[in-house]
Amino acid sequence: MKDLPGVDVLFVNHAAQMGGAELSLLDHARHLGNSCSVLLFTDGPFLKELRQSGVNVSILGGAARVVALARTTGMLRGLRTAGTIATTAVAIARRMRSAKITYANSQKAAVLTALAALVARRPMVWHLHDIMTAPDFSAANRRVVIALTNRAAQLVIANSEATAAAYRAVGGRCPVTVIPNGIDPAPFEHVSRQDARASVAAEFGLSAAPVYGVFGRICGWKGQAVAITALAKSAEAHLLVVGGPLFGEEAQDATLRDLAARLGIADRVHFCGFRQDIARLMSAMDVVLHCSTEPEPFGRVIVEGMMAGVPVIATHGGGASEIIAGSGAGLLIAPGDPQALAEAIGSVMRDPALRADMAARGRAHARRDYALASVQRRVDVALAPWTSAHPIMAGHAAG
Ligand code: UDP
Repeated sequence: MKDLPGVDVLFVNHAAQMGGAELSLLDHARHLGNSCSVLLFTDGPFLKELRQSGVNVSILGGAARVVALARTTGMLRGLRTAGTIATTAVAIARRMRSAKITYANSQKAAVLTALAALVARRPMVWHLHDIMTAPDFSAANRRVVIALTNRAAQLVIANSEATAAAYRAVGGRCPVTVIPNGIDPAPFEHVSRQDARASVAAEFGLSAAPVYGVFGRICGWKGQAVAITALAKSAEAHLLVVGGPLFGEEAQDATLRDLAARLGIADRVHFCGFRQDIARLMSAMDVVLHCSTEPEPFGRVIVEGMMAGVPVIATHGGGASEIIAGSGAGLLIAPGDPQALAEAIGSVMRDPALRADMAARGRAHARRDYALASVQRRVDVALAPWTSAHPIMAGHAAG
């Protein structure tokens, strides 16, 4: 591991796949440029993205074993990797000494960074992207991360009110500030919906029939099965399933393909894998579907659908409700209910005036409340107590 220069912000993230938390970190790291660096626990597409963006990034040698620990892992198995954890924490502690603030961007990163912070006596913030009461967190892991961060973290940045409430419910005692994810409007402004539709139709062999999209990593609780089941209730519409099984969910990918085949709609369900042309794909949709069966911590895809000027139908709960409620830009339905989803799609598709109204409201709402630049300013302000000597911060103070 080569030494990185002294920086204002040291980001620590365990995963190197491109999930929503990593895309959020990528934006913040690009924004801070040379005044930040990133530590990952393992190699992967995220490392490549950061490097291509000119961000200082390195991998903590040996930390890959920490990544292999599932969120549901019990304490015992965790203890077996105690040696790796100690070595990794010491390596992070060494790096923390040359950063004004260390910013843990995932739960595993928070555990390791908190240990390191206690050793190095350096400040840390934790950007919490998960609803900690979700069933896929083991009680043991929850206790460990909360106990450590309660002692070591100066601030928790929660990506929604729901995430903040769950954090407090499981015993989190650090000061919390709620800052949503920001989405850059630029890629959506460079796409015409008509052109996007024509090129996507050509790519997937689509007719003039309606086309819906469900975007996000393949994973049971993201609810792609609900979208596929709802699609079977329509005679001709197509569905794009955009996203890959990023975190070992290959079996779920196979299950979804089987489901489409069993329902006799394999020719109308298009599995796209992980894509980078999200703005183009979303702009081509008649409706963007969000189908999570558990409360969504934030839901970047909902804001992106709005940025694209496409009506969004999402499931109640968590950040999804916070983004959509009162916006007029989307409909909220019960989770895990394909019939309700099919009916909601029908109500939107039957009413062109409603579609146009939702699209216009969505564009305005997303740009007003979730534009990347303004969200980044909020993160800068949250970090300012530690980084205030930075020229970006000085600019804010002046402005
Ligand atoms: N995404 C992507 N390519 C894909 C599927 C998803 O870039 O093929 C992006 C999507 O545009 C969004 C993010 O992954 O920005 C997912 O974030 P979200 O908050 O919806 O879910 P998370 O991954 O954080 O659970």
